[in-house]
Amino acid sequence: MKILVFAQIRDGKIEENTLGILNKVNEVFRDSEISVTLFGSNIKDEWIKQLGVHGAKKVYTIDAPELEYYLSRPNVKALSKVIDKIQPTIIIAAGTVYGEDLLPRVAIRTGVSCAQRITDIAKEGEEILFYTPVRDDQAMKVQKITGDIKFVTTRTGAFFVNENPTGGEPEVISVDITFEERDLVVKHVEIKKAEVTINLKDAKVIVAGGRGVGGKDQFTILKELASILGGHIGATRACTDMNWVEETYEIGQTGQSVSPDVYIAAGISGAPQHISGIKAKTLIAINTDESAAIFNYADYGIIGDLHSILPLIKQKISE
Ligand SMILES: Cc1cc2nc3c(=O)[nH]c(=O)nc-3n(C[C@H](O)[C@H](O)[C@H](O)COP(=O)(O)OP(=O)(O)OC[C@H]3O[C@@H](n4cnc5c(N)ncnc54)[C@H](O)[C@@H]3O)c2cc1C
Repeated sequence: MKILVFAQIRDGKIEENTLGILNKVNEVFRDSEISVTLFGSNIKDEWIKQLGVHGAKKVYTIDAPELEYYLSRPNVKALSKVIDKIQPTIIIAAGTVYGEDLLPRVAIRTGVSCAQRITDIAKEGEEILFYTPVRDDQAMKVQKITGDIKFVTTRTGAFFVNENPTGGEPEVISVDITFEERDLVVKHVEIKKAEVTINLKDAKVIVAGGRGVGGKDQFTILKELASILGGHIGATRACTDMNWVEETYEIGQTGQSVSPDVYIAAGISGAPQHISGIKAKTLIAINTDESAAIFNYADYGIIGDLHSILPLIKQKISE
């Protein structure tokens, strides 16, 4: 079987999700041919080496100025070309904005669909199963993709990077491509970085909110309290997925790891993926559900509505 991983570059480095996927596919498809596509402008040898060390046997490179920044059409053309060349069984990419844009487009052109945001893959005999958490992660969708070609995106952060990779030098296959004007109708203009990047790692106090906060506007009380305490707000993935707060505030497996003196967890259930990012000296949990898992990790637990409790804490501290 042939597996093709779409590698992504971020800030001049191979994105961690790509390395995580390589780790996973090497584990599940031990005897398969695992290849990677590496598209970009001025592709660096160190990227190719790193992909090899993390388990890519072959790296298909397309080095072209048109691929310096991600644009749908040039990438669709480039990926389609590599797929035509090697006829892989599985094409897999991290479900970043780029991966989730690209793979369904290529899948549709191939006449198949794409399994999105998987968090696990299993091989059972001849069957390959793809797992996607659904219903706010309270249920798991298990999918089989029939047909000879399977397109899959992964939930970001789903797979760990191998800390001690033992791969070697990959074979490099450079693929030629020519882009026409119609491939380039959309032009890259600029990337504007966020004016403020939040480094939660050094925060001494974090007032973190979860789905229980109830909405974007309701985060105001958390911001006010964080400001009085000289700290920052934080959030669970549930909140960043719903755009209640920016992704930069996410804490946990796919977010930032934090080690504050005080962590106030308001309306957070205590999922392992959130808890794994927290090493707090004191954790204070506020939750209406007395059986919420967060209380197992808390030094102080308050059973109640965060919308009444946080204003009280704010008032007491202001006094
Ligand atoms: C591969 C993978 C990676 C993930 N990475 C992360 C990650 O990095 N970070 C992360 O956070 N999650 C991550 N998740 C998601 C994680 O599994 C949980 O779904 C998520 O953390 C749940 O967020 P939550 O606690 O806000 O929401 P919920 O689990 O829905 O909990 C909401 C809580 O609020 C309480 N509540 C409701 N109303 C109130 C109120 N008025 N006052 C007080 N309490 C109230 C409820 O009792 C409940 O306990 C990941 C999942 C997967 C599969």
